[in-house]
Amino acid sequence: MFSKKTVKVKNIFIGGEHEIVIQSMTNTDTLDISSTLNQINNLYELGAQLIRVSVRSLDDIESFRIICASSKVPLCADIHFDYRVAVESIKAGASKIRLNPGNIGAEWKVREVVNTAREYGVPIRIGVNSGSIKKEFSHLEGYKALAESCLEELRILESMEFGDVVLSLKSSDAMETYNANLYVAGKVDYPMHLGVTEAGVWEDSIILSSAGIGSLLFNKIGDTIRVSISGDPLQEVTAAKKMLTLLGYLKGPRVIACPTCARTQIDVADLAEKVKIMTAEIHQQITIAVMGCVVNGPGEAKDADIAIAGSGGAGVIFVKGKIVKKVERSNLEKELMDEIQKMIYGR
Ligand code: SF4
Repeated sequence: MFSKKTVKVKNIFIGGEHEIVIQSMTNTDTLDISSTLNQINNLYELGAQLIRVSVRSLDDIESFRIICASSKVPLCADIHFDYRVAVESIKAGASKIRLNPGNIGAEWKVREVVNTAREYGVPIRIGVNSGSIKKEFSHLEGYKALAESCLEELRILESMEFGDVVLSLKSSDAMETYNANLYVAGKVDYPMHLGVTEAGVWEDSIILSSAGIGSLLFNKIGDTIRVSISGDPLQEVTAAKKMLTLLGYLKGPRVIACPTCARTQIDVADLAEKVKIMTAEIHQQITIAVMGCVVNGPGEAKDADIAIAGSGGAGVIFVKGKIVKKVERSNLEKELMDEIQKMIYGR
């Protein structure tokens, strides 16, 4: 979305004018083809556009080949240390590979990977995290060590005139992730994959990822994201879509709701939750406000496309800030949904 360079990964583009790409990673055993394909399919159905799969050794290659052939979504092979696994993953159908050239060993081995990637038109993602900081930079401040390690990895590929690259710098510390990405984006212009790594379970990851990824996007850095969450990867895609929608990078409904106070006339939380569920499948930009009262509600929700505010135990519906109808308490959801449908579908 923000880098000038664009990388093509099978049928999707990362960088340039293209929308931010949502990624996740399988956590099934790559040798278990049906479970892995099942998870890939579920992630794809939910909205993942690029999925990373660990290819741990040459033993995984045959499974990976079958998985690639059946996957509806481009796959990125995650490789560590062994250049042969990288080469064979590309030949098996990887649309992208993630590795750190510095971990691959002798220059001829890296060159072998680069030549194969070039031949097959497969981009390489350099993925640096706190565990891959190079010794020569370990004396530097955390984010600089991460950033310089990434730039060093990049220099290896650039020295082989390979520029089909995506960069990622991840730390479990949101601030360090932010600073490292800012540092590198100020020096080079490759598409950036954002994420806070090892961000923990649901709420913790949402908070850390929103801070780390969100602050970078606001700085016009980032072309693809992964919200790293321990557990079921489907949560990652749900969170990524929600984050991008709420921050305005993806079209979809936004339900704003007041925090409630002594003036509250309707069950705001319950209605807002229902509206979220009822509008989940809408892929258009629409802001719906659920407000507890007409004293402050309409003013606070004036930027919403449609708003409902509690009044005397019933509700008042506003469209673009103007009252369109008063509704009984028992009809709040239905009447609100009717207005939303009218706005979206003209009926
Ligand atoms: Fe309170 Fe009304 Fe504001 Fe909700 S909109 S927080 S009920 S004043």
